[in-house]
Amino acid sequence: MDTIIKNVKIITMNLDKHVIAYGYVLIKDGRFAIVSDGEPTKEQREKSKVIDGNGKWLMPGLINTHGHPAMSLLRGINDDLPLNDWLEQAIWPYERKLDKKSVQAARNLSLVEMLESGTTTFVDMYHLHMHEFAETIETVGMRASLMRSVIGLCSKEEQDEKLAESLSFAKQWNRGADGRIRTMLAPHAPYTCPPDYIERIVQAARDESLPVHMHLAETRKEIHDYMDEHGMHPLELLEERQLLEGTDWLFAHGVHMYEQHMELLQKHGAAISHNPKSNLKLGSGVAQVASMLKHGVKVGLGTDSAASNNALDMFEEMRFAVLLQRGINEQADMIETYEGLQMATVFGAKALRYEGLGTIETGQEADFILLSPNQAHLHPTDHVLSHLVFAAKGSDVTDVYVQGKALMENKQLTTIDKEKVLAEATLQFNNLKKTLQ
Ligand SMILES: [Zn+2]
Repeated sequence: MDTIIKNVKIITMNLDKHVIAYGYVLIKDGRFAIVSDGEPTKEQREKSKVIDGNGKWLMPGLINTHGHPAMSLLRGINDDLPLNDWLEQAIWPYERKLDKKSVQAARNLSLVEMLESGTTTFVDMYHLHMHEFAETIETVGMRASLMRSVIGLCSKEEQDEKLAESLSFAKQWNRGADGRIRTMLAPHAPYTCPPDYIERIVQAARDESLPVHMHLAETRKEIHDYMDEHGMHPLELLEERQLLEGTDWLFAHGVHMYEQHMELLQKHGAAISHNPKSNLKLGSGVAQVASMLKHGVKVGLGTDSAASNNALDMFEEMRFAVLLQRGINEQADMIETYEGLQMATVFGAKALRYEGLGTIETGQEADFILLSPNQAHLHPTDHVLSHLVFAAKGSDVTDVYVQGKALMENKQLTTIDKEKVLAEATLQFNNLKKTLQ
């Protein structure tokens, strides 16, 4: 049966910035068959399940292009350290103690948080229990780009073993869960993967037509150390080794990059996942996003993990992204309001190489959210695009759909038990604390 959602304001996110003040969508086989103003016809209503949107705002589901959902139990651990010390002193000792149950508890916690704040698609870069997570996503119904990421500070045999594991996971799950799961290969970072290893990973990705995801140029220290060791910026080393061309790169961060790097990214179609809050919290800096966009680089937004954010609310990322560029460039239109929304939706889809995602248009995947405008901070309701970027909160989201299926209805999650997830997260965190005492 088809589904109709009527009596909604539709933020289409198309190139014309079109907002339908009063309209409806008709969903057939997981896609939008009709996106229209006005009311559905009697004939359409008779063949469909009709849901009254009660004047809510309907927009594309948010796309989180970089994260580590398995790290959510580490939320709030050592708030005041720079990236290197934070990883070595705070995060890695905890991560070494993570077992299957704690990883699962953290991931479920992340799924609840993302769903409740309107994220429909996310990236998980991690190395533990990936098959189990893919199975969870299959049940919960979200859309995700998954990868078994690798750190190459080990013997060649171990490197090869990790790469083989990544490849086997990627091949098994790519386009799985009714096409909702995509996979990538993921060297963790230039400072944890020697160039030869990155080269082997890129070669494997090209052979299997998989995108490659990697942290890049996150801190000034990373670039200084890299220059000392290799005599050039890590992006330039990738270029010199001809590893940028013919590869669908998605780099997380890209904070310490300069004009010539924007040109390289654009030339090779590489995408950036901009993680403004995580970069600020760790004192890493501010990526030159306005310049990236001006150069035509694909830029999506990401939260990074709850350990460095500490939330997974994409409305916050959108707001930080726009405000930061205006502040550091001292220019009020340095990133247009609409570009903020595009980075959280349609640009994110492009960064992940999903087709047919990120706008509300006929033929597109029916991944969308509804927000209740019955909030003081969203009134008067006329300037909806402005409100979504500068005033809305994740908690304004009331309904979440992926492939036309409701994963949250009127604030109730339909495929995951929130109470159970919160209790299990607390239990597993307490166990984890004990092992470190
Ligand atoms: Zn990260």
